[in-house]
Amino acid sequence: MKHLLSDPSLWREAAFIGGEWVSTTPHGSYAVRNPADQSVLVELPRCREGEVKSAIEAAHRAFHTWRSTTARHRGDVLRRWYELMIANRENLAILITLEEGKPLAEARAEVDYAASFLRWFSEEATRVRGDVIPAARDGQRILTLREPIGVCAAITPWNFPAAMITRKAGPALAAGCTMVVKPASQTPLSALALAELAQRAGVPAGVFSVVTGNDTRAIGGELTSHPLVRKLTFTGSTEVGRLLLGQAAGTVTKCSMELGGNAPFIVFDDADLDAAADGIVAAKFRNTGQACISANRILVQSRVYDEISRRVVERVAGLRLGNGLEPGVQLGPLIDAAAVCKVEEHVADAVGKGATLLHGGRRSGLGGGFYQPTVLADMTAGMRIAHEETFGPVAALFRFETDDDAIAMANDTEYGLAAYLYSRDAARIWRNAAHIEAGMVGINCGLISNEVAPFGGVKQSGLGREGSHLGIDEFTEVKYLCWDGLAVA
Ligand code: NAP
Repeated sequence: MKHLLSDPSLWREAAFIGGEWVSTTPHGSYAVRNPADQSVLVELPRCREGEVKSAIEAAHRAFHTWRSTTARHRGDVLRRWYELMIANRENLAILITLEEGKPLAEARAEVDYAASFLRWFSEEATRVRGDVIPAARDGQRILTLREPIGVCAAITPWNFPAAMITRKAGPALAAGCTMVVKPASQTPLSALALAELAQRAGVPAGVFSVVTGNDTRAIGGELTSHPLVRKLTFTGSTEVGRLLLGQAAGTVTKCSMELGGNAPFIVFDDADLDAAADGIVAAKFRNTGQACISANRILVQSRVYDEISRRVVERVAGLRLGNGLEPGVQLGPLIDAAAVCKVEEHVADAVGKGATLLHGGRRSGLGGGFYQPTVLADMTAGMRIAHEETFGPVAALFRFETDDDAIAMANDTEYGLAAYLYSRDAARIWRNAAHIEAGMVGINCGLISNEVAPFGGVKQSGLGREGSHLGIDEFTEVKYLCWDGLAVA
């Protein structure tokens, strides 16, 4: 598959540790597969504690020099990394489609999204500022500095193999931190191509390392227990996030957590119904439903329920499923067999408890990880989809009567990542947006992710924010200087 790239040197078959490509370890290799047909794309070295330790120590050595460079210099390096990503957009998109399965058009959009964090934080690098605070005693001055926190460990998921890395590396490197990334074992190729481009952009050895492997617990154990790691930034499931928070407690490592979601998508009866149906399809079927902000529960007011159902089915029936590399494909495969089983179980559970299948509802004839885009109506609170992230192409339509019902249903979950509201009434939107327990609310809008806005959740969807002017704060510590003997009179 390397032959598909116009620049084959972006196809890397080695981990990247302390500025060196490491193609073998004593622990052998593991296979990375294409979710579209399960063919082996590449065999990569299995890193374990020793390799992770080397990457952390290299990051620690590099930290002292990198943090001493000017913010302008770090911004310039990030800007070059951004430009190299854009120049290699097609190659990076092909890698994403090969290892993750999403259609090429979505993969290109992910490259743009991923690169945008490098550009944004290349600009934010120069805006990290401290304060001068009026002192509590005569002759004193109180100053605060914002300093880079140190070596950061990043653990990232497979569903956005490039963007989930740059959303962390951009602010970390801009602040003067160094980073060791453990990409998802299913999608390491994008991470390695990013490392290659970082090196070309002038990111010094040790500042950005990528450890490969599927000995996940060994890698995670080292990243969360090594005393030189001062920050853990994780994106993935709530279950693993909880586990890592517990592990990081041993070294009191500062943690940011971007975890799972169970987004409610609320359509009020005064909404623009075409816009709402378009929004549902965008928020539900992007990346075949494998997004943390995917609309898991679609709550529709009774008066417009049948009409919304009809319009959603009409749109979903037109979606084309297939190998993401084929032109015109809009839905790719699910990541693996376990993901297909989970979707099957959720649909069977819903239908068994009285849901009506309006469209799809079974594996596609394409085989493997392909599942038909599905629409379920008459969903109720006792069904698994009401409480668990489906992470698949299933639009589940619930019915509500009043605004209070909708908000109670929306908040009836341990998650609080994204929510969506569709209405034409500004006062109604304002009131309901205030009552929704979520970190992000899309209003008449199904696509809410971008680099300028703070991404993150409340409740068990996470801790901290990524992107925006807030994103860099996660990678700095405040140091306060109390300076005495400075009386002016
Ligand atoms: P996951 O199973 O939690 O895995 C995420 C990452 O954690 C992977 O790199 C995985 O490594 C690693 N990991 C798993 N168990 C570990 C352990 N015991 N110790 C250390 N690392 C461990 O999640 P996923 O299936 O990749 O991604 C889907 C989840 O991510 C969904 O819940 C989704 O909502 C969430 N997500 C959240 C956001 C957000 O911004 N809030 C964005 C995207 C995705 P291996 O690959 O080696 O198993």
